[in-house]
Amino acid sequence: MRIGFGYDSHRLVEGRSLILGGMEIPHERGLLGHSDADVLIHAICDAVLGAVGGGDIGRRFPDTDPEYKDISSMRLLRQVSLMAEEKGFLINNVDSTIVIEKPKLAGYLHEMIMNISDVLCISQSRVNVKAKTNEGMGFVGRSEGVVAFAVVTVMEKSRM
Ligand code: MG
Repeated sequence: MRIGFGYDSHRLVEGRSLILGGMEIPHERGLLGHSDADVLIHAICDAVLGAVGGGDIGRRFPDTDPEYKDISSMRLLRQVSLMAEEKGFLINNVDSTIVIEKPKLAGYLHEMIMNISDVLCISQSRVNVKAKTNEGMGFVGRSEGVVAFAVVTVMEKSRM
């Protein structure tokens, strides 16, 4: 078994949709980025890449490449999971946390879990998404940005 860790942050700005976990969350501001800026999915991509020794999302999908402009991050996660499979790994478990001051995400977490488990082709019971505030502290607390953390475990296919 191998473990990978991922972290990401994006700035919250006006005039952008708030995309988290592959879905649009109603809110007056959204995350700034070259892709759809889905901070949760970026952290999960980096955790998968970390587990399989695959580098990082910025190296795989450079933000200077017009191919990735406004791309759905779910497509990046799909590509990352296929890469892990090609390297001989199966994704075993995903755990993640979004840190966001507003809006409350409790009502959206199940759909995010369904989206992620669908794209990774694993059971929903192997995906966990948590959300919390930063208790008003720092740039997250001031709603200047959103951060996400993820831990992924993978198994070598030959050992299953
Ligand atoms: Mg990112």
